[in-house]
Amino acid sequence: MIVDTHIHLDDARYRDDFDAVISRAKAAGVERFIIPGADPQTLARAIELAEQYEEIYFAVGIHPYDAIHYDRRLLDQHISHEKCVAVGECGLDYYRLPEDAGEIKAEKLLQRQVFIDQIALAKEHNKPLIVHIRDASRDAQEILEQYAGSAGGVLHCYNADHALLTLAAQHFYFGIGGVLTFKNAKKLIDVYPRIPKEKLLIETDGPYLTPHPHRGQRNEPAYCQLIAEKMATLSQIPVEEMTQMTTANCRTLFGI
Ligand SMILES: [Zn+2]
Ligand SMILES: [Zn+2]
Repeated sequence: MIVDTHIHLDDARYRDDFDAVISRAKAAGVERFIIPGADPQTLARAIELAEQYEEIYFAVGIHPYDAIHYDRRLLDQHISHEKCVAVGECGLDYYRLPEDAGEIKAEKLLQRQVFIDQIALAKEHNKPLIVHIRDASRDAQEILEQYAGSAGGVLHCYNADHALLTLAAQHFYFGIGGVLTFKNAKKLIDVYPRIPKEKLLIETDGPYLTPHPHRGQRNEPAYCQLIAEKMATLSQIPVEEMTQMTTANCRTLFGI
């Protein structure tokens, strides 16, 4: 059994064939799903799906791209829901910053405040964090080391960086996705063997980051299998062992 630990099933791109997406996932051995929070608009849909489908769980959080719409009350309102397993995705994303130096500073400050507040929320409710980090490894590492304390969580690993490996010692897991299957995944393939096996998780981040050989198409949870196969090859273990291990890791972190 595989858990897709990061899949945006609340995305409009899954609306038309939702049940077919879930059936294909199950046929590929993917039997549980965690929908990370991203913005206030899609949260309602995530909760609706989690209430309708036993195998779907969700997290409350605001993505750094949407930091401007951060609303702590909205997260407070849903964090105690029985299907809410984490806080996130939250973090830092410096990939698309404004041009103006003053605006860059303001945007980074805002992202930082919103990230720190969500870390506090996770600690308060004893929930793990789902952390999104893009082109901001140093700052994110600093913040997590300073504020996360006992709170652990999972880091998106598509911007793989040796700097983030120090967080493995601090209750942090690493979500491995389709990027590992890309032909130009040298950076991640380089970091991958240094991630402790008991800290590996599988995620698609669908509808984004579709694994090879489906790049360019919509990503979906069934493709967890392709990621598991690549991980197993790199770790030199059978794929069944890899899926069992990552599912056990998921249980330890998210309790599902
Ligand atoms: Zn993300
Ligand atoms: Zn995501």
